[in-house]
Amino acid sequence: MNIAQILRHSMALGVDRLDAQLLLLHTLGRAEHDRAWLMAHDTDEVSAELHTCLEKKVMRRIAGEPVAYITGTKEFYGLPLTVDARVLVPRPDTETLVDWVLEVLDTLGTSCVETATPRVVDLGTGSGAIALALKHTRPDLDIYAVDTSADALAVAQGNAQRLNLEVHFSQGSWLASLPAERDTFDVIASNPPYIAALDEHLAALVHEPLQALASGSDGLDDIRQIIVQATDHLNLGGWLLLEHGYDQAEQVRGLLSDAGFANVQSRRDLAGIERCTGGQYVHRAVTA
Ligand code: GLN
Repeated sequence: MNIAQILRHSMALGVDRLDAQLLLLHTLGRAEHDRAWLMAHDTDEVSAELHTCLEKKVMRRIAGEPVAYITGTKEFYGLPLTVDARVLVPRPDTETLVDWVLEVLDTLGTSCVETATPRVVDLGTGSGAIALALKHTRPDLDIYAVDTSADALAVAQGNAQRLNLEVHFSQGSWLASLPAERDTFDVIASNPPYIAALDEHLAALVHEPLQALASGSDGLDDIRQIIVQATDHLNLGGWLLLEHGYDQAEQVRGLLSDAGFANVQSRRDLAGIERCTGGQYVHRAVTA
């Protein structure tokens, strides 16, 4: 069979065109962005051996496994990250959060009196996506990354090494492992689990770690914890920026305002959905 026939065959088995192309490129040992190469070589013959190898991948995809786990890589913010079932597959939506962190760092400018080098922490780093994208774009930043899962940290550290990016990793639950008197930040960013435990979307995500996806009955348990902990770990004027579910922006704005955050606002993702919400730490909330 030639390349065009093999792609048609894979699609007839039930994978969509883009996935079939990505799996074929991977099988041929070519880069993900080489889709134009496939078009230009659509009459090239593919050996029976490679075809069998591709079919195995196609069957895994049909069983619901994300393409990124099958190929072992996912591009995020222009960086090729190694991923597997120990971490959530980085989503393009999360690039909105990275853009926002970079923007607030620009506005902080030289006003970071605590330290000349802005300090940023990525909570629940998973594959390291947010932390590594930030360090790659702004090598001058002091970047920390936390995850409760030792498995996830191993993946993230592998990515940091491969990409030669310096990030300080630590294991713990959100900010609990970082001493408040020493570890304060200019920006705390997080893409925490935020899906409600009984949400029907979880059924489509069975291949990814549940602890990176689900968070209590309304999906906001972890976001609540992060907001409470963040006030002890932000420099004055520092920002807490959170990714959340498609219908949680209003609730997260409420939680941030209740905790005393100022300039509380949301940002839309590529699909136009309010996907990230954040606020600036100006003073401790006054509680009665
Ligand atoms: N955005 C992911 C999804 O809905 C979930 C990521 C998360 O829970 N942090 O597929």
